[in-house]
Amino acid sequence: MSPLRLSGLSLALACAHVPPAPTVPPVAAPPVAAPAALAPPPENPGRLPSLVRAPPATLAPLPSPVPPGTVASALVATPADPVLAAILKAARTDGEAYKRLGALCQGYSRRFAGTQTLVDAAGWAKSVWERDGLTVTLEPVNVRHWVRGAESLTMTTPAQRSLAVIGLGGTVPGSVTGDVVVIHSFDQLGPQVKGKIVLYDVPMAPGVPSITHYGETVPYRTQGAANAAKFGAIATLTRSVTQRSLYTLHTGAMHYDEPVAGGPPVVKIPSAAVTVEDSEWIAAQVAAGTKVTLTLNLASQELPPTPSFNVIADIPGSDPSAGIVLIGAHLDSWDVGQGANDDGAGVAHVMEAMHAIAGEVKATGEAPKRTIRAVLFANEEFGLDGGNAYGKDHGAELHRAAMETDLGAGVPLLWDAKGTEAQMTWLKATLAPLGMPIGDGGGGADISPLEPKGVLVTGLRPDDSHYFDYHHTNADTFDKIDADALAEGAAATAGWAWLVATSADPGPAPVPPPPPGPGGAK
Ligand SMILES: [Zn+2]
Repeated sequence: MSPLRLSGLSLALACAHVPPAPTVPPVAAPPVAAPAALAPPPENPGRLPSLVRAPPATLAPLPSPVPPGTVASALVATPADPVLAAILKAARTDGEAYKRLGALCQGYSRRFAGTQTLVDAAGWAKSVWERDGLTVTLEPVNVRHWVRGAESLTMTTPAQRSLAVIGLGGTVPGSVTGDVVVIHSFDQLGPQVKGKIVLYDVPMAPGVPSITHYGETVPYRTQGAANAAKFGAIATLTRSVTQRSLYTLHTGAMHYDEPVAGGPPVVKIPSAAVTVEDSEWIAAQVAAGTKVTLTLNLASQELPPTPSFNVIADIPGSDPSAGIVLIGAHLDSWDVGQGANDDGAGVAHVMEAMHAIAGEVKATGEAPKRTIRAVLFANEEFGLDGGNAYGKDHGAELHRAAMETDLGAGVPLLWDAKGTEAQMTWLKATLAPLGMPIGDGGGGADISPLEPKGVLVTGLRPDDSHYFDYHHTNADTFDKIDADALAEGAAATAGWAWLVATSADPGPAPVPPPPPGPGGAK
């Protein structure tokens, strides 16, 4: 029922039941009943029954499982400890996370591996943290340098039209024309794809947590070209990995197989993504028996690795032998958009956490026992160069625990952690004042090189119901950020760092897990 219809009904009912008062001047407007009073009065059953419809017994599921702004933060409102409360309050209210993310997005968009922009962003982060009074170092990292060129996708059969396309990161260049074979799962690959363009039309399942469904679908992006090339395909197109689309193109990394000594030669074929809309449309044509012919042109280049930087800031602990607790995010983004959610939000969480903690340390004169170290990693998206360099250069230092935030700017809901049973028990007790649940099996890509050292790793899990709408697209921009939700994530990050760095019980010392046995259990 439309609102307009409702107001008409409202007026009609009011006029029918309110007798005219002789004292009211004729020019006065009649009272209008509130919408809540619209149902026919029970003493008059049958009056206008056809105009009042009962709601359906079951409502169809909403297309968007969790609209933005409707999920509550799981972070404690006001913890009992006054220092922790002051740190959370600063992160929630001083606006620095949002301001810093705005400066990063608008000043340093497309912070892709190998670009000068990524180097400049590292210099910016260093200068901002130095204004917070932190000691900051830029550590050189050589990063992969792949450059996108001109790209086009043209349909010649059954219609002549140009389609939106984006090369996947790492694709070889190429210019190919071929008929389309649609594949819905890897086990459908076979001789029928020889000489053809494979379209992987594999939808990302709806629902939250979205990260789970991303993990199910993303192999078609990362491994699709390598797998189809084994059967003689000439190129691959992948349906953009997202749950919702407004004709949005999603890029991301793809990998070719490494050549094996004595094995067959590795054939590298061009690989790109199309929109959900075009993927479904092409798949429907092919399913109806219509031949679809496309021409794909990609002009990318692989250049020599280029110097970039990890940005490292420390709040020194009062006991230099007590070790380090690390909070991190990756500074780089894809070569589209502003990387506002991925991972500008994480950068803002970490920068603000250090700002809030440094302010409190200055105000109280009380340093944490263990050093709090923040790292903005140089290249997560395209080869994990920053995380690997940090693990190589700093892995021998005593890290008590590490945390990464790389799942966007939604309100914080839980932690995912990975460690021994003793480490998990300790973490649950240590983080209890924050009120957020702790799940198993987390961490983050950039801190994964610390796992073989036995370091307890944690990942921040915010509400990710809309994270993949923008992920790796030109739409991942600052206007998508909710300032309050971002500030909650910064407060959670600060709370994690403060509690882990100051707990009276330092927790179990990291013990490297045993290497996998011969043949490898996994
Ligand atoms: Zn990321």
